[in-house]
Amino acid sequence: MKILSGLNLQEIEQITNELGASKFRARQIHNWIYLKSVNTIDEMTDLSVKFRDELKKVATVSDTKIKVKQESSDGTLKYLLEFPDGECVETVLMRFDNRANLTACVSSQVGCAVNCSFCATGKRGFIRNLSYKEIIEQVLTIQRDTGLKVTNIVFMGQGEPLLNLDNVLKAMEIFNENFQIGARRITVSTSGIVPGIKRLADNDMQSTLAISLHAPNHDIRAQLMQIENKYPMPELKKALKNYIEKTGRRITIEYLLIKDLNDTLESAKQLVNYLHDLKCNINLIPYNPTEKNDYQKPSGNSIMRFKSLLEQSGKKVTVRLERGADIDAACGQLRGKVK
Ligand code: SAH
Ligand code: SF4
Repeated sequence: MKILSGLNLQEIEQITNELGASKFRARQIHNWIYLKSVNTIDEMTDLSVKFRDELKKVATVSDTKIKVKQESSDGTLKYLLEFPDGECVETVLMRFDNRANLTACVSSQVGCAVNCSFCATGKRGFIRNLSYKEIIEQVLTIQRDTGLKVTNIVFMGQGEPLLNLDNVLKAMEIFNENFQIGARRITVSTSGIVPGIKRLADNDMQSTLAISLHAPNHDIRAQLMQIENKYPMPELKKALKNYIEKTGRRITIEYLLIKDLNDTLESAKQLVNYLHDLKCNINLIPYNPTEKNDYQKPSGNSIMRFKSLLEQSGKKVTVRLERGADIDAACGQLRGKVK
C-alpha cells in the first residue's frame, strides 16, 4: 500500500501511470493532498468513483495517527502523533491573534541526544531520526485535522534538526515546492551543532537560523547544555559569522531566561559583549518549568530589565509569548506524560 502523503508529483505520476491514468490525475491528487488536505481518497471528488476505487486498492492518504490532541485556551493546538512503528512525536499549531499566520512547530527526531538539562525531550535520550516524510506528515496531519493551511514552520519540536540534516533539508524543499511555504517562512532552531551550521552556510540557506544560546558564558552554558563542551561558544561564534557572511541573513539568538541563573545584570553585559558583532535579533524565552529539575521561571520584572539592557546595545529583542501553557506545550512535555 502506497502512502500518498509525502510523495512529490513525479512519484504520484508513477502511481497514476501504473493505473493507466493521465498525468493530470496526478496533479489533481497532489492538490488534494497538499493544498486541500483531504483525509481520504473518497474526498477527491474531481476523480471518478471508478478511478477512486482503483486508487484505493493501491494507495491510502496517510498512516499517521493522532494519539492525543489538546486545545489551549489561547487557541494553540497540540498533537501527539503516532507513526506505524509506534513511536510518537509532538507537533504544535500556534495561531497568533490578528494575523493570518498559522505556525506549525514540528519535530525532527524522536527524542534527542543533546540532553540539555532544562529540556523534557533530552531527558528521554535519542530514539531515532524522523524521515523527511514523517516531518512533512506532521504538517499534513494538522492541515487535515483543522482544515486550515499552515503558513509558517518552525523546527522547534522534539529533536535536534542539525543532527538529522539530510531529512530536514529535504523536508524544507518539499515545504517550498509542494506546500508553497517560502524559505523565509521557515525557521530552523539548533543547539549549536557547528558542522551543521557550516553545511547550511554552504547551502546558502535562506530560512531563518535560530540558535539556542541560552547562556552568556562558557560555565553557565556548559551547566545547561553539554553540547557546549563539544562546540564551545568561541567556535560557535565563528560558525555563525561565517553563516551570516555567506547567506547575508540575520540570525535569531534564543535565550532561555532562568531565575537567578542567567537573568542577572552581569549575564546581560556578557551576552551583549558576545553578540556585539553578530547580525542578530534576540528572542528571550522565559523558562517553562518541566517536572524533573530545579530551575525556576524568571519574574516579569527581571524579564523586562534583561530585555531593556539588551536593547540598549541596539539589538532588536522580543520576548516569546507563552503559548499553550495550560496544555503542556513546552518541548517534550506531552509525550513525557503519555509514555
Ligand atoms: N533542538 C533544537 C530545537 C528544538 S528545542 C534546539 O534546542 O534549538 C526548541 C526550543 O525550545 C529551544 O530553544 C529549547 O531550548 C526550548 N526549550 C526546551 N525546553 C524548554 C523549557 N522547559 N522551557 C522553555 N523553552 C524550552
Ligand atoms: Fe535536544 Fe533542543 Fe531539547 Fe536540547 S533543547 S535536548 S537540543 S530538543
